[in-house]
This record gives sequence, structure tokens and C-alpha cells, in this order.
Amino acid sequence: MNLRITHEEPLRLMSVHAHPDDESSKGAATLAKYAAQGVDVLVVTCTGGERGDVLNPAMDRPDVRRDLPAIRRAEVAAACGVLGVRQRFLGFADSGLPAAGEPPPAGCFAVTPLEEAAGRLVEIIREFRPHVVVTYDETGGYPHPDHVRTHEVTVAAFDAAGDPACRPEAGEPWRPAKLYYHNALSRAWFRTMHDALTARGLDSAMGPVLAELGDASEPEVTTRVPCAEYFEVRDRALLAHATQIDPDGGFMWHDREVERQVWPTEDYRLARSHVESALPEDDLFAGLAAGRVPGLA
Ligand SMILES: [Zn+2]
Repeated sequence: MNLRITHEEPLRLMSVHAHPDDESSKGAATLAKYAAQGVDVLVVTCTGGERGDVLNPAMDRPDVRRDLPAIRRAEVAAACGVLGVRQRFLGFADSGLPAAGEPPPAGCFAVTPLEEAAGRLVEIIREFRPHVVVTYDETGGYPHPDHVRTHEVTVAAFDAAGDPACRPEAGEPWRPAKLYYHNALSRAWFRTMHDALTARGLDSAMGPVLAELGDASEPEVTTRVPCAEYFEVRDRALLAHATQIDPDGGFMWHDREVERQVWPTEDYRLARSHVESALPEDDLFAGLAAGRVPGLA
């Protein structure tokens, strides 16, 4: 195994998500792979997922609904244990998915002033000192106000954490080297999987999703991280979110061997970089060569 600990301190990767379970459904195999290589990985979860639904019929019981916030905390802890990564909450309240035209609830993450939320993340960045930060693109990857806000907060904190004039009381400045956006569950992924499954005579449940996605243009992918041998770990992390994942439906349904064959990567767009790296890349730490990493040399 290619251990990454080439200096006294390991490389560090921070993945910022909106709710418990997002760390397991977007980029989880990447986190498990880097953690196994000795990278220090921290998941930051902006909200507690308190306003989420119970999406697994077997778990949709009154006792579960009553204790959902505590259950979701336990689920994300279990999932991060499976992935071999650490996790922290940013400490904001889930905004829920408001109906069209309805404002988000008072005090929730989506209506917290950007500066306040980003300031908390600046503190965590200065404490953890990640070399690479990963989050959602400007669409949130999913039209939920907490996902869009997570993008805004992470970009603001990425830019501010290295600026000594920004929140001098919030710790020593630290400038992460690279910022990435997820390109998970893209139309190209659904199309490739659907075609591969049907070509092998297997059922695909992806037709309706493809129809819904239409043919709008997709963001550029700069970085494909090979991680097929960690899909099994990703799946165990997903299933740790028992209130959110139906083991008989949705993402758990498609054939894993076909996925490993036709789409063995998780994909990203490099959004900011303070180091040189040739695109396309297959490594989030490309350009961060030993001895040249600020803070590691
Ligand atoms: Zn979410």
C-alpha cells in the first residue's frame, strides 16, 4: 500500500457536507481510499439533519421519528467509523426542503448570515489545516437550500482561512492548497450504468432518472479518483444510515460488479488551486509533492 505518511504529519483532506448521510452518498469511496492510505480525513457536517424524512420504510416508526436527531448523529458516527474518517458538526439546524414559495424556517442554516457560518468553518480549517477541501458546486448538486448554503459557506471559508486579516481571533491562518466540487451521480454516470446494465440483460431502474435529468450540459470533470475497491466500504457506510437508505431500493439496487467495471472512479472538478498540477488528474493531492507542500516541508 502506498502510505502517504512521508513527513512527520500526514496529508489532510476535509469534506464539507450538508446533512448526515451526504458523506456516504457523495465521494465516500474516495474518503475511504485516502484514509486507508494514511491521509487524515475530516468530514464536516453543517447541520444535524433534524428535518429530514425517514426514507427507509422498515425504519419509519414513531419511536424512530421521535428520536431522529439523536439517531442521525449515531448513524453518521457509525458511517464515518466504517469509512475510517473523523467527523464534526458545524452546529447549524437543518433547513428542511421548503415547499415552493415557502421561506426556510427561522434560525436554520440556510438563513444564517454567511459570515457567521463561514466563520465557524474558518475556525475548523485553521485547527485541522487541510491541504484539500471538497464540497458541492454552486448548484448544491441537489436543489436543497442546505446544500447550496454548504457550497457558499465552504467557498467563503476556503478563501478566508488563509487571510490573517480575517477573524484574527479564530486561530493561525491556514491556506488550503486545493478546493474541489463533487461531480457525483452525473447524467453521464446514469447513462453509462443504464446502458451497461441493459447490454448485459440486467434490469436498470435508471431510465426514469435519465428522463428527468434531460440533456442539459454537465460541469467539466478535471479529476477522476480510482476507488472501485472501496465501493463495498461506501455501501456499508451508506447502510449505516438506516433511516435514510432503503437496502432494497434506490442507490443500493444496481449491480456492483457492473459499476466497478464501467465506472470505477469518483469524479470532481478542481475549483481553486494554489499549486501546479496537470489536468486531468487522478488524485486530489496531485501537485502536492512531498517536500513542496506548504506546512509539510
Ligand atoms: Zn443532504
